[in-house]
Amino acid sequence: MRDLQSEPVSALPRRLAGIAQPKLARLCEETAHRSGLGDLLARRYSGKGIALMFHEIHADVDGELRTGCGPAQLAHIIDTVRAAGRDIVTIEEGLRRLAEPDSRPFALLTFDDGYRDNRTNALPILERAEAPMTLFVPTGMMTRELYAWWIALREIAKTRDAVDIPPMERRFECVDLASKVALMRQVTAWIGTDNARARSLAPTFTKYGVDLPALVDFYAMDEEELKTFARHPLVRIGAHTVSHRFLSGLEDAEVAAELPANKRYLEDLLGQPVPYLAYPHGDEDACGAREARLAAQAGFEASFTTRPGHLFAAHLSHPHLLPRMDVGYAPQSASALASRLNGLHRVIAAGFVDPVATLA
Ligand SMILES: [Zn+2]
Repeated sequence: MRDLQSEPVSALPRRLAGIAQPKLARLCEETAHRSGLGDLLARRYSGKGIALMFHEIHADVDGELRTGCGPAQLAHIIDTVRAAGRDIVTIEEGLRRLAEPDSRPFALLTFDDGYRDNRTNALPILERAEAPMTLFVPTGMMTRELYAWWIALREIAKTRDAVDIPPMERRFECVDLASKVALMRQVTAWIGTDNARARSLAPTFTKYGVDLPALVDFYAMDEEELKTFARHPLVRIGAHTVSHRFLSGLEDAEVAAELPANKRYLEDLLGQPVPYLAYPHGDEDACGAREARLAAQAGFEASFTTRPGHLFAAHLSHPHLLPRMDVGYAPQSASALASRLNGLHRVIAAGFVDPVATLA
């Protein structure tokens, strides 16, 4: 049976594609970690920089169905990164260090979507650690127009013991945490990178009485909060498209419109340049060479995917397909974190491929 407790929901579509079975991946991570061989095996895969991804920082991790992590995990990751010899720096400084052979190793902390708990729960930890962060914000999250299907789905799973999802022809019994987490995982996997499938859940949300703008209003910062947050010396704001859809499923013209529109919106709202982008979802099914070309065209200096891997000087030739690793899920084992910090994670997810992740 699939282990429901230790895999990030966002990683699931990739896992189901057969690239790595979760149990096998975990076994590899654990063996490498315990034997001390991980660092050795991953030597080629260990780069000057790493970009780490978080989403929500929950006070009640189980209550939010383990879709984020807690403040203690964030603090622990910061300590572990520094103990491994990496400075935590801004994206701008990280790119500068990539270009400089003698610079110190670094880590970037990035947060996606604009959740309010990034201010209430993450910022105090970051302040204590004096660690800078970048928050990638979709326009729709601020305007409350975002079709945030993952938030709607979670709300239904949290509050019901059984959920019917007619487009999947499935009824989920979900009386406890494990089955609620499993529901989230299975529906997310079914959606894959298909915008139409995501949209097909709208009548289900209506049937269960979900008020999506109110939910977004509850979980996400509003424009005034974002403006205040953006003025904090440790905070930088990045772009994350207008609608947070899977870009690969959109026409050229839609992608070409979304990217600069979100950039302009944030720059106008905040009165500061927004030079960096994170693609929504970010795996190789959700974005690729076309998106990289359009991101450059929209005026971004660098763009982050969720390809597994570390950052190398060679990435300066591919600044719009930078790898980034999810560490903001709970619970997380020491070996899973270690494999992301030493580079073994790329080997486990993709095999002994090119250490410099770009298109895959
Ligand atoms: Zn996102």
